[in-house]
Amino acid sequence: MEQAKITYEQLLSENDELRIQLEEANDTIDAIRTGQVDALIVNNGNNHQIFTLKTADQTYRVFIEKMNEGAVTINREGIILYSNSRFANMVKMPLEKVIGLFFNSFIPEVSRKKFDSLMKRSWEVDCKEEIELVNNRQQIIPCLLSCNTLEMDEGPALSLILTDLTILKNAEKQLKIKNEQLAVAHSETEKLNEELESIVKDRTHELFLSREHFKYLANNIPQITWTNLPDGEMNYYNQQWYSYTGLSIEESEKWGWQKVIHHNDLEHTWDKFLSALKSGEIFEIENRYKRGSDGTYRWHLNRAVPLRNEQGEIVFWVGTATDIEDQKKEMEKKDEFIGIASHELKTPLTSLKGYLQLINSYKKNELPDIIKQYIAKANISINKLQHLVNDLLDVSKIQAGKLEYAFIPINITELVKTCVENAAHIYPSYTFENLDGEEFIVKGNGERLEQVLMNLINNAVKYSQENKKVIVKACLHSNCVRVSVIDFGIGLSEDQKERIFERFYRVEDKKHMTSGLGMGLYISAEIIANHKGKIGVESTLGKGSTFYVDLPLLEARQINSIPHLH
Ligand code: ADP
Repeated sequence: MEQAKITYEQLLSENDELRIQLEEANDTIDAIRTGQVDALIVNNGNNHQIFTLKTADQTYRVFIEKMNEGAVTINREGIILYSNSRFANMVKMPLEKVIGLFFNSFIPEVSRKKFDSLMKRSWEVDCKEEIELVNNRQQIIPCLLSCNTLEMDEGPALSLILTDLTILKNAEKQLKIKNEQLAVAHSETEKLNEELESIVKDRTHELFLSREHFKYLANNIPQITWTNLPDGEMNYYNQQWYSYTGLSIEESEKWGWQKVIHHNDLEHTWDKFLSALKSGEIFEIENRYKRGSDGTYRWHLNRAVPLRNEQGEIVFWVGTATDIEDQKKEMEKKDEFIGIASHELKTPLTSLKGYLQLINSYKKNELPDIIKQYIAKANISINKLQHLVNDLLDVSKIQAGKLEYAFIPINITELVKTCVENAAHIYPSYTFENLDGEEFIVKGNGERLEQVLMNLINNAVKYSQENKKVIVKACLHSNCVRVSVIDFGIGLSEDQKERIFERFYRVEDKKHMTSGLGMGLYISAEIIANHKGKIGVESTLGKGSTFYVDLPLLEARQINSIPHLH
C-alpha cells in the first residue's frame, strides 16, 4: 500500500515535469519559428549541449513566416515537414495539425493526377504550375505552386511556395465579364452608328429632294419669289425674277432690287421694308417693278413673311411679288365707271326726289291715304338710293384724291348725342346707350364725322339682329377723344378684322345675309385718316364688336351728366 502511494505521487510529479517540458518545447518551437532564437542549449541528462539551428537565419525565418504566400516543406513521401502560418490559414486548419499530413490531402480529387505528375517532375527540376487546393471547409483555392528541391540533413526535401490566386482569378473573371459587356456595348454602338449613318443618308436625300422640290415649285409659280436674311440682304431669287427684271445674279445681289423699283415708290418701299425687318411683322406693299424686256413699269403686290426657329428668332424671310398690273387697270376702269355712273345717277335722282315732294305738297289734303303711304315708301327708297349714290361718289372722289371739305371746331359730345337720337328714331326696336361725362372738341368736318358715326351705328344695328342693344361712348384716350360703338352681334374673325376697311370688302356669310356694297368702312377710314385720326375694331366672333374712332383733341371739359337711354 505504502509502495503504491509512493508510485502515485511519483507519477504525479513526473507528469508535472513532463507538462513543463512540453510547454517549454512548444515555446521553443514557437521561438524558432518566429526567428527569436538561432541556437538552443539542450540538457541531455548528463550535461548541456549547444545546438545551432542549421537554417538559423533569423531574417529568412521571419520572412517565411510573415510572407503572403503559403510555404511548405515536404519529404519524398509527400508528408508535410514544415508549414508557415499563411498556409495553415489558407487551408483553414491549425498549424500544428497541418504538419505531418500528406500534402496531397489538400489537392481535390480532380486535380490529383496533375499534381502527382508535377511532384514527379519537381524532384528532378524546379517547376511552377497553377493548381487548385481544397481547404478544410471544402472551398477551392486557385494557387500558383512553385517547387524547389532542398538538401536537408534528413535527406532531400521539396519546398512548395503557394500563391493564392483567388483575388487574381476573381479580377480576371470580372475583367472577362467587363470585356464581354464592352464587346456587347461596342457592337451596339456600331449598330447604332450604322443606323445613324443610314438616317443621315436618308435625311440628306430628303433634304436634297425637298430643296429640289422647293426650287421646282419656286421656279414654276408665276410670281417672283425671294428669300432674305434677317438684316434684309437678299440671298435667293427664283427664275421669274431674273426673267422679268433682266438682271444677272451679280446685279441682283444684296440691295440690287432697288434698281428695278419705280423711283416714286422707292422711299416708301424702303421705309416699309425696314420697319418690317425691325418689328418682325408681315411686309406688304404695292409698288412698280421695271420690266427688263421693254423698260415698262408694272404694279406688283409684295408680301414677305418671317420664318422663325424654335426660339422664335427670325431665320429668314420668304417673299413674293405678284404682278397686279391687270387687276389695277380693271379696278381703274371700274372706278371710272362708278364715277361716271354715280354722277349720271345723281341728276335724275335729285329731280325724282323733287317731283315726289311736289306730288306730296300738291293738293295734300285731297290725296287718298294709300297714295300718301306710297309717297312715303317711295321717299324711303329714294333716300336709300341717294345714300348709295353718295357713297359711290365718295369712293370715286377718294380714288381721284378729291374728297375735300372744310375743318372747323366740332363738339364731338353733341355730335354723338345727335347721332344716337337719330338712330333711336330710325331703329325704334333697339336700345341705345350713350355714355358721356365730358365734352370733347375736335377740329373736323361735322357732316363727314356724322357720316362716319352713323355708318358705325348702322352697321352695329345691321350686324346684331338678335341682341338689340348698342352702346355709344366718347372718352379720353391718350391725346385723343375715342368714340366707340359697341354691339353684341355676330362679331368678326381675325382674318375679317384685317380686311373690312378695304374697298368693296364684305364678309361672305350665308347665315347672316345683309344688303350693302362694302363701301361704308372704306369711306369712314378715309375720312378719319383725313382728320389725322385712327379707326379700328376689337371683336370676337359670335360675341360682338367695338368699332372705335380716335380723333386728335382740341379741348375737353367736364359736364355733369348721367348716361342717356334712348
Ligand atoms: P357694308 O355695306 O357691307 O356694311 P361696310 O364697309 O360698312 O359695308 O362693312 C364692311 C363689312 O364689315 C360688312 O360687310 C360686314 O361684314 C363687316 N362689319 C361691319 N360692321 C360690323 C359689325 N358691327 N359687326 C360685324 N360685322 C361688321
